[in-house]
Amino acid sequence: MRGALGGPRVLLRRLREVMAEPVGAQERLDRIVVLIAANMVAEVCSVYVLRSDATLELYATEGLKREAVHQTVLGSDEGLVGLVASQASAINLSNAQAHPAFSYRAETGEEIYHSFLGVPVLRAGNTLGVLVVQNRARRTYSEEEVEALQTTAMVLAEMIASGQLARPGDQLAARQSVHVKGAALSDGIALGHVVLHEPRVVVTNYIADDVQGELQHLRAALDTLRSNLDEMLEHGDVVEGGEHRDVLEAYRMFAHDRGWVHKLEEAVLTGLTAEAAVERVQSDTRARMLRQTDPFLRERLHDLDDLANRLMRQLTGRDHAPARESLPENAVLVARSMGPAALLDYDRKRLRGLVLEEGGAHSHVAIVARALGIPAVGEIDNATGMADPGDAIIVDGTTGDLHMRPLPDMEAAYAERVRLRARRQQQYQALRDRPCITKDGQEVCLMINAGLAVDLPHLTDTGAAGIGLFRTELQFMVAPNFPRANEQYALYRAVLDAADDKPVVFRTLDIGGDKVLPYMRNVEEENPALGWRAIRLGLDRPGLLRTQLRALLRAAGNRSLKIMFPMVAAVQEFEQARQLVERELTHLRRHGHKLPDEVQVGSMVEVPSLLYQLDELLERADFLSVGSNDLVQFLYAIDRGNPRVASRFDPLSPPVLRALKDVADRGRAHNKSVTLCGELASQPIGALALAAIGYRSLSLSPSAIGPVKAVLLELDCRKAAQFLSPLIHKTDSGKPIRGRLEDFAAQEGLQI
Ligand code: PEP
Ligand code: MG
Repeated sequence: MRGALGGPRVLLRRLREVMAEPVGAQERLDRIVVLIAANMVAEVCSVYVLRSDATLELYATEGLKREAVHQTVLGSDEGLVGLVASQASAINLSNAQAHPAFSYRAETGEEIYHSFLGVPVLRAGNTLGVLVVQNRARRTYSEEEVEALQTTAMVLAEMIASGQLARPGDQLAARQSVHVKGAALSDGIALGHVVLHEPRVVVTNYIADDVQGELQHLRAALDTLRSNLDEMLEHGDVVEGGEHRDVLEAYRMFAHDRGWVHKLEEAVLTGLTAEAAVERVQSDTRARMLRQTDPFLRERLHDLDDLANRLMRQLTGRDHAPARESLPENAVLVARSMGPAALLDYDRKRLRGLVLEEGGAHSHVAIVARALGIPAVGEIDNATGMADPGDAIIVDGTTGDLHMRPLPDMEAAYAERVRLRARRQQQYQALRDRPCITKDGQEVCLMINAGLAVDLPHLTDTGAAGIGLFRTELQFMVAPNFPRANEQYALYRAVLDAADDKPVVFRTLDIGGDKVLPYMRNVEEENPALGWRAIRLGLDRPGLLRTQLRALLRAAGNRSLKIMFPMVAAVQEFEQARQLVERELTHLRRHGHKLPDEVQVGSMVEVPSLLYQLDELLERADFLSVGSNDLVQFLYAIDRGNPRVASRFDPLSPPVLRALKDVADRGRAHNKSVTLCGELASQPIGALALAAIGYRSLSLSPSAIGPVKAVLLELDCRKAAQFLSPLIHKTDSGKPIRGRLEDFAAQEGLQI
């Protein structure tokens, strides 16, 4: 290497010595720049650190004027240094002054230098600063020198990220407070400290003693990684999180990718340990890919991250198993994605919140988070790259806001909100045993929606009248493989035991659409929401449905049982499904099993076609339950899971309220019970409207029981009906119903 004294390996060795010296961080940095300049025979070596206001502050220099340190602050797009930071890639120029981005600060005295090599200081793909060398003579730095400088930058990244360089009052980008908005997945507010679900392997030893030995170590680990992947593919294992074969195939492809392997070997040849080499290459890749907007490429980044982590674990012999048992108090998990079972593995008592890079409101882990009452936000880009273990963090699962390393004011404001919520919870708790009767004497039965064993304590906590919707598919969704008949039986029994003599409405499997089972081969469909799902699948593959019905009937021996079918679109479907119940009853009777004392069979109303078959359906069904989530989706033809359209139409609008009122009216005419179990019932304003149009039975998220009951207890139902009735019969463009209901509630002193 021309000009370098001893090359990158000597530099790294000397760097290690400096890192071990018992001096303060600034002094260490000062020594490092001297060392780099000497090693690279450069007249200048400078370190700029990125601050939270996106400016770059000169933190140390050899060669530029010393007075400029901590005085020179460059704008994020200022000069070549700014360009290195914003592009997160190296710039190597023999005549820097000829570059259009060149600018210089007189206070540094750098106008006499011609050649310029700047590399970004990267960590997990995030830019933390810029490291620069300069020479008077016009020269191009060799590839080896660029490598050496990048490797050195990596060691600096750890120093900057640890916060040890920050001076009082400094806000460095590496430790800056970050506020991002994602998707609200599970209600509530959590204040706590970051625990990475799959912690990055922390490299403690960057500098190799024996380069050839490291190279062998790397190659052996790559071999093991490849054969592990082959084995997994051969045995059809799924990786954690329920991912599939195609993901493993992609991993295998990358693991054999010559470009990747070549980059890793090159990094080792500069003198890094094998694990540091993996980190360096991955950090560069992340930096490049984080600037991509193509979702396909972003997805590949995740695959590469995973693969790099696997390789690191292989190299360091460290298991990635997170500290599930030794979770610190007030832990907030941060993960790229997570399977529902993994969440259930953590100690619930110490877990305060959850942050996911992926995962919408309908993801399985979000369902479990809600069941556990853990505030959660999703769709937070690069959350795992921004968070460091132990960082303070606030999760607002109600609004989707996330604050990482919050400023004290923000923390105080949230702490106050948490106290307020706790006080309100106490007030709701005081209503627990009060029957839900409106001011004008109308009793409204409030039940909870549930689906997992972890939901059962909510029945007593909330004082609910029963379980109005037990989503049996949740057991299937969180399990690693198909729950067997006896596992289904065991859950149903546990539910009935927990409910004691309160009613439970079991809904048969509602899979398909957005509810996918990781272990079941899914049929590719153009429109899964309109496809082969729920009762359609149940009737076409009666084996599955019959097993479930049998498990339910057996579990309810000597008790009463309520079963209902999802996504019924035609009366005939209901008839067929009901016949399956009869067949199973006959079968159990013949085999001398204990039978339920009574079996009631009902239908969900979530497909609009049923609105025109209500009388026929009510003649055959024992009860109805309106699934307003799907009914609104299909009435307005808006995908409930697509944030672009999901809020386009308000369920509190004439078309929906007319439809809902029809169902309630027809139910009353047939003397059959009608419950509403969609999300609408869980919002106090929705519950108010539903009570006003005649609903006397609602099934809600457990956390909504308190707020809804508080409103209904103060409601004059007749007055609300008189207020709402004329509004739902006109579709004028005046003030929307929601706004009018809010006015009504304000007048009546109702807290909605
Ligand atoms: C609904 O559609 O309103 C409903 C309660 O069912 P799910 O949300 O499970 O589809
Ligand atoms: Mg539904």
